[in-house]
Amino acid sequence: MDFDLFVIGGGSAGVRCARISAGHGARVGIAEERFWGGTCVNVGCVPKKLLVQAGEYGGWADDAAGFGWTIKKGPHDWRKLIAAKDREIGRLEGIYRKLLDSAGATIFDARAVLLDPHTLEVGGQRVTAERIVVATGGHPERVPIPGAELGIISDDAFYLPRMPERVAILGSGYIAVEFAGIFRALGAEVHLVYRQPLPLRGFDQDLREGLAEALGHAGIMLHPGCRPQKLEADGDRRVLTYGENQTLNADLVFFATGRRPATERLGLDRAGVRLNDKGAVSVDANLRTSQPHIYAMGDVTDRINLTPVATAEGHALADTLFGKHPRAVSLANVPSAVFSTPPIATVGLTEEQAAAHGPVDVYVTKFTPMRHTLSGRQRKSMMKLVVDQATQRVVGVHMLGEDAPEIMQGIAIAVVMGATKQDFDRTIGIHPTAGEEFVTLRTRTRVAGVARAAE
Ligand SMILES: Cc1cc2nc3c(=O)[nH]c(=O)nc-3n(C[C@H](O)[C@H](O)[C@H](O)COP(=O)(O)OP(=O)(O)OC[C@H]3O[C@@H](n4cnc5c(N)ncnc54)[C@H](O)[C@@H]3O)c2cc1C
Repeated sequence: MDFDLFVIGGGSAGVRCARISAGHGARVGIAEERFWGGTCVNVGCVPKKLLVQAGEYGGWADDAAGFGWTIKKGPHDWRKLIAAKDREIGRLEGIYRKLLDSAGATIFDARAVLLDPHTLEVGGQRVTAERIVVATGGHPERVPIPGAELGIISDDAFYLPRMPERVAILGSGYIAVEFAGIFRALGAEVHLVYRQPLPLRGFDQDLREGLAEALGHAGIMLHPGCRPQKLEADGDRRVLTYGENQTLNADLVFFATGRRPATERLGLDRAGVRLNDKGAVSVDANLRTSQPHIYAMGDVTDRINLTPVATAEGHALADTLFGKHPRAVSLANVPSAVFSTPPIATVGLTEEQAAAHGPVDVYVTKFTPMRHTLSGRQRKSMMKLVVDQATQRVVGVHMLGEDAPEIMQGIAIAVVMGATKQDFDRTIGIHPTAGEEFVTLRTRTRVAGVARAAE
């Protein structure tokens, strides 16, 4: 065999797995057909957060007036922002490549496909490997309506030649609400068109309601309960027909309507790797596919599609196979954030999920953050604890408000360790912060889930 391990895909999962495996002394090959670092570095988390940060400056300039400043906001230069972002992404892509190189992995800038369970074709070359990792990630997907090709997907949003003045975003998942905030903060008129009654399906109901209110306050036009029907061109403009035949004119229509695992034309069938009914590669808790020496991880397996999950899995598999340190990654209590404006962060169960298992004590607080008592901006923060009544363990923590992602990372450690409400209560707060609210929530807002427990 040419390699002990061959990794298909140089994204978050693949790069980590290849780099750590090579560091353990394995002979590793890795192929990437598009960009090193994958979605996160090039068209995902990193450039997205830079665009969110670009938008924040405009709001701060407005808010500063309440603190005595006179800041005259000039126009925003989209091309300058994108050029700066591209320079940073180029730097990061180079770092990913260099990390692999210095770890001793053999790098292929090419597409890899499986020819049989141990053979791959990579850029016209045949290679064999003892073990193989499929880490090919996913692609954005448009809902199949007539004219869908006239709209953009998230990959395109990072390379727009100019800032649109009027944008219609289809969908209400995290990518949709994040880009709604970005375009709005940079001055566009933004419409969010979605089928659900509230954005962010699957998140805690209080968060979803709080976010819908915040998006409205930010001036984003919400069109809940609406299905897109068709998209047409009118010169450079786009005409979206949605809901009960309403129409919307925009210079950009953005499909943020989901992602699909990248499993096509990979030769998975030839290698005996089975997909599940959603088209993702099926894996067990040790990331093994239906072919025991072929593993899959990250977004191609469509479980929790987040970068830190992908990198943790890549690292764990490398340690298991070559580092004499077998371990699996727990997918319980994975914290996550939505970089909406304001952001959301969450760890553990939603109130609805927790209540399905028995009675829970729910603590909720909603308040105007200190900054906005002076800025005058209409913006509330919301913080929430979900506590299992029988054990008093904090099983869910949710926040909508500035700095929520930064605050939640620390809280997630407590939740992973099994902290109880009493542990939260005996922790002294840091004053004056928003975070201290999590340790000073004394009055229970409600009890949920009693009826089911009594059944
Ligand atoms: C707009 C957006 C924002 C996001 N924001 C966040 C965030 O804030 N936080 C967060 O945690 N996650 C975020 N994510 C999700 C995150 O980017 C993914 O979970 C993560 O990148 C998954 O890593 P991966 O290695 O599984 O796949 P990817 O990063 O997609 O990497 C797969 C790689 O495989 C390559 N490839 C595919 N097929 C082949 C082949 N046959 N041969 C060679 N190469 C191949 C692809 O080119 C790609 O580079 C975001 C995603 C998007 C789209």
